[in-house]
Amino acid sequence: MIALKNLTEEELKQFMKTIDEPAYRGSQIYSWIYKGAKSFDDMKNIPKTLKEKLEKVSYIGNLKLELKLESKIDNSKKYLFELNDGNIIETVMMEYEDRITVCISNQVGCRMGCKFCASTLDGLIRNLEPWEIIDQILKVQEDTKKRVSNLVLMGSGEPLDNFENTKKFLKLVNDKNGLNIGYRHITLSTCGIVPKMKELADIKIPINLALSLHSPYDDKRVEIMPVAKAYKIKDILDACRYYIKSTNRRVTIEYSLIKGVNDSEKEAKELIKLLKGMLCHVNLIPVNNVEERDFKRPDKSHIYKFKEILEKNNIPTTVRNSMGSDIGGACGQLRRKHKNSEVE
Ligand code: SAH
Repeated sequence: MIALKNLTEEELKQFMKTIDEPAYRGSQIYSWIYKGAKSFDDMKNIPKTLKEKLEKVSYIGNLKLELKLESKIDNSKKYLFELNDGNIIETVMMEYEDRITVCISNQVGCRMGCKFCASTLDGLIRNLEPWEIIDQILKVQEDTKKRVSNLVLMGSGEPLDNFENTKKFLKLVNDKNGLNIGYRHITLSTCGIVPKMKELADIKIPINLALSLHSPYDDKRVEIMPVAKAYKIKDILDACRYYIKSTNRRVTIEYSLIKGVNDSEKEAKELIKLLKGMLCHVNLIPVNNVEERDFKRPDKSHIYKFKEILEKNNIPTTVRNSMGSDIGGACGQLRRKHKNSEVE
């Protein structure tokens, strides 16, 4: 069975030919998919005979809404979707004055093992297919009746560990006849898988790259991010520079601040040395405490002190505003709580 939402318009046209149908039917179906058709019956101008044929060999691909929580303190919404195999994924929608950003998941679970992250506690379950990634956006648009303008690949999973499906997803989401989300409005966050970062640079699609650095020291990084055993900071930052050169885009350096772990003045200064002359900005993320771990965020004044040190040295720095703190924390925690039956 083929998931039609995995296909580009061109691929759908080709697919029609393989089932002895004219190619233009592919364009019609494609257009119905992005109008939100959930079943072949929703596709008004498709003949019954074709619908019956399609039922036998394909399906559209629809996530099932399992739970939706709306924040009372900001306009964010969190969604849990059920996949066809019963797995659950989490999607977050954040509404700002000028844009709507959706944080999408890329894998069920994750195998990178970052110590402060809830998504990785049970390891990787499986990669998401392109349609399972793209449908998160379609379902949020359907629910909110608003157009999603920006995307961050910062939900569960490591996008560069599901690279083929991520590339396909990026192509689909950018398509003018599809969701038409501009590459410049998409940010992909990685824990630093060097060869894939270079490959991403080489395909030259101008999305924004965000790197999860979290420490300027290799040994400290290994302690909190086991994937750091495989890639040294120097090589990761070289890959960032390569990305900047290939795409002309400024890279974001994500730095989750953990009290007593990576928040000292010495670490700020080391970070400055590492990032000097690089077209980047730093995004400080006060760590969200995950119940299974005991990481605390530094005091607000300490966070702003860290920011000030970087800024005084000409490194543009922002502090990430945590949204939806009243609806299940962040970073995969809602999915986890749901799994453990703590939220209904
Ligand atoms: N696999 C990608 C996407 C992960 S989520 C990556 O590693 O970049 C996006 C960001 O949130 C990453 O920087 C990640 O390290 C960070 N993060 C995950 N859990 C967190 C938590 N509990 N508190 C603060 N930041 C967290």
